Amino acid sequence: MTPPEPALSVVVPMFNEESVLPLFAPRLRAVLDALGEPYEVLVVDDGSTDGTPAGLAGLRARWPQLRVLRLRRNSGHQAALVAGVLRARGRWVVSLDADLQDPPETVAEMLRRARADGLDIVYGVRADRSRDTRFKRWTAAGYYRLMRRLVGKQVPAQAGDFRLLSRAAVEALRELPERSPVLRLVVPWLGFPSGEVTYQREERAAGRTKYPLSRMAGLAAESVTSFSAAPLRVATWLGLVGVAVCGVLVVVAVAAWLAGSTVTGWPSLYVAILFLGAVQLLCLGLLGEYVARIYTAVQGRPAYFVASDTAGPGAADADGPTADGPAELADSLR
Ligand code: UDP
Ligand code: MG
Repeated sequence: MTPPEPALSVVVPMFNEESVLPLFAPRLRAVLDALGEPYEVLVVDDGSTDGTPAGLAGLRARWPQLRVLRLRRNSGHQAALVAGVLRARGRWVVSLDADLQDPPETVAEMLRRARADGLDIVYGVRADRSRDTRFKRWTAAGYYRLMRRLVGKQVPAQAGDFRLLSRAAVEALRELPERSPVLRLVVPWLGFPSGEVTYQREERAAGRTKYPLSRMAGLAAESVTSFSAAPLRVATWLGLVGVAVCGVLVVVAVAAWLAGSTVTGWPSLYVAILFLGAVQLLCLGLLGEYVARIYTAVQGRPAYFVASDTAGPGAADADGPTADGPAELADSLR
């Protein structure tokens, strides 16, 4: 095994956070030093182009527990988080933003909860979002409602990426074949015992948000497509609606033709166009169905996880999780 394992790893993705760093570091350090346990702070420098790397190097000289993982280029918040969480060495791993919107003091409470209640995952849940704009609240509510429908009720509403994971949960994440999991969906999907700690989301301490609307939309699209093949079915449904509408309009056209109130050639052209459109959509939908199956097969997510086995831990994974049975495939497509 690698160096002695710290009790706690705190993973912090940072992108151009030079203005927040001098506020963030002392506040986090005070909390962690007070725990009285070995810890590491793993800052993932997501290709910052400002004074962040220099600031981190300066801090490291005085803070031996600070570890810096630098990504070669800016890869986005989710990717930086995944990079950090999968490389953290701690027995417990907490991820938190650098801008002090997630109060570091809550970390101690999460750790207490996890130990006291024997939990593997503790979510930081925002008590209220009154400090967010109405637009942000509105879009967030829609996002969480949709995600709970797609992934299941175990996705906590209003929980972002502030959370604590046990070593077992991190190892489960590590075993997923996926390259870029959307953590806030995949973590609840793992099915570990979990709890919540509520906290007051604070104002960004300094600097500007790195999450413009385009990135929010990107995250939403990635969330949907990483858990559902439903968008591929849109063509099927449109095709079916098209066929039904076509049927009605064909009757109308024939009636008009019989009544003699049409221009010559109109009914045949009209019916042909309607019919071809509907058939094309249906065929697209059919293709989509197969693409969807390929998609879930390529994702290769296990269909289940064994929590424990009375025959012993070694026996739990004897033949490995499988996801390629037709029943499981059909299930994951739903
Ligand atoms: N972040 C990152 N890479 C990016 C964008 C953001 O590592 O490409 C980090 C950022 O430094 C911060 C966290 O992700 O620690 C959350 O970003 P931000 O506070 O800007 O998002 P918001 O809270 O406004 O949604
Ligand atoms: Mg923020």
